[in-house]
Amino acid sequence: MHNIINHLKKSNNILLTTHSHPDGDAIGSLLGLGLALEQLKIKVSLYNESALPIVYQFLPSIHRIKKDAGNIGDYDTVIILDCSDLHRIGAICESVIKIPVMINIDHHSTNTRFGEFQIIDPVASSTSELVYRLIKEMDIPINVGIAYALYTGIMADTGSFRFSNTTPASFEISHEMVKHGADPHKVAHHVYETISLNRIKLLTMLFDTIEVSENGKLSIMTLTQQMLSASGTLIEDVNGLINYAKRIENVKLAVLLYERKASLRRKSGSEFHVSLRSDGTVNAAALAMGFGGGGHHNAAGFDIRATLPELKKIVFDFSKHL
Ligand code: AMP
Ligand code: MN
Ligand code: MN
Repeated sequence: MHNIINHLKKSNNILLTTHSHPDGDAIGSLLGLGLALEQLKIKVSLYNESALPIVYQFLPSIHRIKKDAGNIGDYDTVIILDCSDLHRIGAICESVIKIPVMINIDHHSTNTRFGEFQIIDPVASSTSELVYRLIKEMDIPINVGIAYALYTGIMADTGSFRFSNTTPASFEISHEMVKHGADPHKVAHHVYETISLNRIKLLTMLFDTIEVSENGKLSIMTLTQQMLSASGTLIEDVNGLINYAKRIENVKLAVLLYERKASLRRKSGSEFHVSLRSDGTVNAAALAMGFGGGGHHNAAGFDIRATLPELKKIVFDFSKHL
């Protein structure tokens, strides 16, 4: 950690980025670290390839995260947050390697250990928790923007302090963030309690797609582009859908098959994104790695080029290992 701190203190212009289709931890760690480094008078640019989910638009300074990475040649350092491998940041991965120093901050057990400097701890609940440790080591004061960002990141990745990655540290840091001004009711209100009517319509369609394997241990939900357009929702408007499939009794592995937008299908070469959630008895990250993806023991994902019937066959075969 000290090498990283020494380096950061010498840096003048830093690009910070995180995985495309960002979740609460990706956004929270990006915003939290960006706002913190800025207090050291370092110039920072925050970048994400995708549109940000509307549920996180309430975060103070969220507008600082841009879809334009600026001029890559201007940066002396790039910080990659919450990414198990560099490709997760999207198309920009080919140009950021030209930035002289890369720092990799992540909590995925499948992290490929890219970059000159790394802070990797698979036991940490979230990347936001690792950002908190770094900010503390650097003695940077926590302001209300940082407090909201890190609280939201930890809350999102622990499923509101319910998942098995919830530790005393998750509560201790959250406690401190609340003391610094993060209002838990406000965060929960925006992230969980506000659902558009269109999203309810999408849910009814999605529930109709649920299939369960013969042994009852695997559930599959399918989300198509046609369902998004018929319900008037955007993918960035929906999150946590897979949790419905995971709550079904006796299910050990829940799977969400998400059909990519036609434009992205061409660009990324994959037809579907597959999300996996385990009850803990099966290693979802190991299954995902078998298809070039990654993640955590209980939550993982991969991208695949296949037709829907081919993909369903592959996924139903997972039930044999459950
Ligand atoms: P998701 O289901 O997409 O929300 O992802 C669940 C977990 O798996 C997250 O921790 C992701 O970072 C990770 N993950 C998802 N897709 C991939 C992928 N294609 N490659 C590596 N890790 C992934
Ligand atoms: Mn993430
Ligand atoms: Mn994370």
